[in-house]
Amino acid sequence: MVLLLLLFPIIAYASWVASTYPIYHILKALAPNGVEVKLLAGGIKDPHHYELKPSDIKLVGDSSRFFHLNSEAFEKNLVKTFPEKSVDLSKNLQLIDGNDPHIWLSPRSYQDLAKSIHAKLIQLDSANRQHYDKKLEEVLKTLRSLDSEYSKTLKNCKSRVILSTHMSFAYIARDYGFKAMGLSGVHAEAEPKPSQAKVLKEARALGASSLFHEPGERVLAKRLAPHLRPIEINISLAGEDLSSIFLSNLKALSTGLECQ
Ligand SMILES: [Zn+2]
Repeated sequence: MVLLLLLFPIIAYASWVASTYPIYHILKALAPNGVEVKLLAGGIKDPHHYELKPSDIKLVGDSSRFFHLNSEAFEKNLVKTFPEKSVDLSKNLQLIDGNDPHIWLSPRSYQDLAKSIHAKLIQLDSANRQHYDKKLEEVLKTLRSLDSEYSKTLKNCKSRVILSTHMSFAYIARDYGFKAMGLSGVHAEAEPKPSQAKVLKEARALGASSLFHEPGERVLAKRLAPHLRPIEINISLAGEDLSSIFLSNLKALSTGLECQ
């Protein structure tokens, strides 16, 4: 018993904290028995504007590792407070424009995030390598099958422009052949860009007929673009069942882009 504890000090009583849902989904799938995976604030729906609560600081303080993309302000703050627990997943990734965090929104690019998490886990805990390899393969299998669903469904669409309230679709656009446009930037800054009217005009000229928005933004979407159809999409992947989130997002995309 003592020997076991000496051999697996990282794993014994470990708890991992994920900064956001997309990281949480993968960590949950890869964690060995005995590791508790927790999500910051029980699931942040709007990571771009999140402000840390004392309970978040405590959660990370009590954990053994904090997994993040080092992209949002709250992630950077936690890294500063707990540098020794920080696991920066962005280091193995090539994020679009250097810091666009929405890599998870495309089931093809999300595989890279899963691989980045896997690589870090092997580095931290090589004794469990076989377990991580096996679980990663299961995750990738699911994502590959979702990727082919996305490819098929998004092939013939009337619109090739994905316009969203904030710029979230760069990875989907790259992977499935669209142009992504956003009325605000990748971190959904509170102040609309001065060029918003111009973006709107350009998107409509390119054939956009819908405005994709996050849950809770319907009124905003209507106000920003009264002539476009508001389409809700789960941009943060908030929820328990990953496959069904991806499939319902695909349905929303297919409706909004008028795919056949
Ligand atoms: Zn976003």
